[in-house]
Amino acid sequence: MPGALPEPEAGGAERVIVDGDPAPRSDDLVQPFRIDPFALRGRLVRLGPTVDRILSQHDYPEPVAAILGEAIVLAVVLAGALKFDGIFTLQTKSDGPVRLIVADVSTTGAVRGYAQYDTGRLGEIRERAGQSPSVPELMGAGYIAFTVDQGEHTERYQGIVELVGTTLAECAQHYFRQSEQIQAGIKLSAARVGESGVWRAGGLMLQRVPPEGGYEMIADDVEDGWRRAMVLMSSVTPSELTDPDLSPHRLLYRLFHNETVRVFDTQPVEASCRCSRERIIGILRSLPPQDVAELREDKVTTVTCEFCNTRYEFGRDEIADVPPA
Ligand SMILES: [Zn+2]
Repeated sequence: MPGALPEPEAGGAERVIVDGDPAPRSDDLVQPFRIDPFALRGRLVRLGPTVDRILSQHDYPEPVAAILGEAIVLAVVLAGALKFDGIFTLQTKSDGPVRLIVADVSTTGAVRGYAQYDTGRLGEIRERAGQSPSVPELMGAGYIAFTVDQGEHTERYQGIVELVGTTLAECAQHYFRQSEQIQAGIKLSAARVGESGVWRAGGLMLQRVPPEGGYEMIADDVEDGWRRAMVLMSSVTPSELTDPDLSPHRLLYRLFHNETVRVFDTQPVEASCRCSRERIIGILRSLPPQDVAELREDKVTTVTCEFCNTRYEFGRDEIADVPPA
C-alpha cells in the first residue's frame, strides 16, 4: 500500500461504544474506530447488498466469487486507511487457476471488481481442495499490487508485493511486514449466508499509529496494549464478520469490551461501475488507426464491461473514422 499518502482524519463526533449501542445503518459501510489509550486505529467494513450485487453480476464458480468478495472488502478496508481523492485499486496477477483479480474503490465509496480464471484448472483444484482452496492453490504464484490514482497530472502511488500466505488477509499482512511503515493486522471474510444464500463480506483492520504527545505512557504498556488488541482482533470469526444480525457496534463491543472503543461516523459504500457508452467510445476511438478501421468493417461492435457485465453495442458509424496522424 502506498505509504507516502497521509492517513485521513476520522470525521464526525466520536463517542465511546457501549453494549447494545444501536447503529443507524449496519451494511455497506466503513466504521472507523479507535482504541484508547493505545492510539490504535481501526476500521470495520461490512458489505451486504454491495458485494452481493457485484458477485451476482457474474456467474463465477463459488471459490472465485469468494476470493473476489474478500479482495473487494480488502480494497475497501485499505482505501479507508489512506487520504486521497480518486481511485484505489487492488490487483492480483498470478499463474494459478485464478489469474487476475481487480477491485477498486473511489473516494466517494463506489466499489466494483472482477476476476479472470481458467475453468479447467479450477475444476482440477476443486477436486483436490474442495470448496475452500487456499490462495496458493487458487492463485498460484504472483503478486498483489495497490495503486492510488488521483487523476491526470498527479503522481501515482503504487505498492507491490509477492503473494505470500494461505489467505488474502495473510497476503496483506505480508505486505505490511515488508513496508515497515505500517504495523497492522487484518481479518477478512466473504460468504453466502442465510436461506437466500446472498453474499456478504466483512473486514477488520487494526493499525498502530505512533503515540501522540499527550500520552504519558511507558513503551511497555503501549506494546502490551497493541499485542492484546491484536489478540482480541484475531479472535473474530469469519461468521461474525458476515453475520447480518450482528451490528458493527455490537461486534466491536464483543471483541474489545475490556478496552475503550471510540467510534466515528460511518462512510457509505455502494456497488457502482464507472463504465458508460461515452467512455467506451472514447477508448475505441483511441485505439491504433488500423484497429479502428478493422472495427468499422463489422456492422456492430459489441463491448462488454468486465466489471459489471453490461453489454454495449456500437454501429460502425459511431466508431470514428481513422483520426489524422
Ligand atoms: Zn461497467
